[in-house]
Amino acid sequence: MKEIFKYIESQEKLVIEIQKQLTKIPAIAPESGGQGEYKKYLYLKNLISDWGFDSIETIDVYDDRVESKTRPSLIASINGKTKTNFWIITHTDVVPPGESTLWETSPFDATVKNGKIYGRGTEDNQQSLVSSLLAAKSLFDNKIIPYYNVKLLFVADEEVGSKYGIEWILKNKNIFNKNDLILVPDGGNSEGNTIEIAEKSILWISFSISGKQSHGSRPDLGINTARASSYLCVKMDNLYNKFDKIDNMYDVPYSTFEPTRRYNNIENINTIPGSEILCYDCRILPDYKLDDIISQIELIKKEIEKKFKVKIEIEIKIKLQAPIPTPTDAQIVQKLKKSVKKILNIDAKPIGIGGGTVAAYFRMKGFHAALWSTIDMKMHGPNEYSKIINTINDAKVFFDLMTESD
Ligand SMILES: [Zn+2]
Repeated sequence: MKEIFKYIESQEKLVIEIQKQLTKIPAIAPESGGQGEYKKYLYLKNLISDWGFDSIETIDVYDDRVESKTRPSLIASINGKTKTNFWIITHTDVVPPGESTLWETSPFDATVKNGKIYGRGTEDNQQSLVSSLLAAKSLFDNKIIPYYNVKLLFVADEEVGSKYGIEWILKNKNIFNKNDLILVPDGGNSEGNTIEIAEKSILWISFSISGKQSHGSRPDLGINTARASSYLCVKMDNLYNKFDKIDNMYDVPYSTFEPTRRYNNIENINTIPGSEILCYDCRILPDYKLDDIISQIELIKKEIEKKFKVKIEIEIKIKLQAPIPTPTDAQIVQKLKKSVKKILNIDAKPIGIGGGTVAAYFRMKGFHAALWSTIDMKMHGPNEYSKIINTINDAKVFFDLMTESD
């Protein structure tokens, strides 16, 4: 093991080289004005063609909006000693750089400074992609047969919804088995001590309240939507009592129902407002059905309408029911805990987060999937970077996961 780790540690140059090449090819979705993943996929496929993978397979998903007409994903496989597959799934697409003046280096020309590689995509998700490649290469170069069938899956279209990526693959390709180990290293923290296994449901809602505008001195002639809206907020707070389950796995261990934006009100103090729009951002534990919560909100709406003689229109802006969490005793979670402890001497604990990764699509189909990686969480912002040491250390954990028997 020590020798393998020395080998992995000696691959810093390769890490930088692959990161530089990957960063040069901005795989941006057509929704964000890009040409997708095709060129990045070609580079990757070419890079690993003679490494020693037992098979390399392309999954083409047709998309008219890009020049290549395809949003390709790539599977690179290594046969193991058992029949069980161990998947490491990373995505090749990146988000646009955003406000260019905020970048201190060129976003698509990776720059190395103090052990960090700066550039769009270097952390999200290229760091883990490179770690998975490095773990595989350490098998080939040291002539080691892994315990599991190792499957590196590089997916397209993660940043804007996975429709041409994992969602399509799960629907159209029968390549996953229920006892496969599925790791999605696309989340984590700088300590590397969290294993994400669950997410909350998301409900964004707006209330358009209509009353009757009048002079500030004549409330008797108006229907005051500011008052109705305030009472609505008070009533909405009851949802905290009604849906009050606690789950300490989540950073905020309960469901939240928070008023956020208020607008379409009036600009001056001396008018009774006749309209207002009030918005809510609710993050709800997966135990609850969003429809049950919406029914309660409908009741509150009716009560306020009756009491204040206003008209309220509810609009659901986002309604995302979280899938059932991956259980803490799932094999992938237990194996991750064990390897992270053994290799990095870190006690990692299962947690829940805000939501929306590739793992969620697996959970929706009843597969167990977990997220783990060591990252400084610079994704999507300016000056995104990846620490080379994290790439190396995570590769050691991936190597251990590939080779360690159950
Ligand atoms: Zn990502």
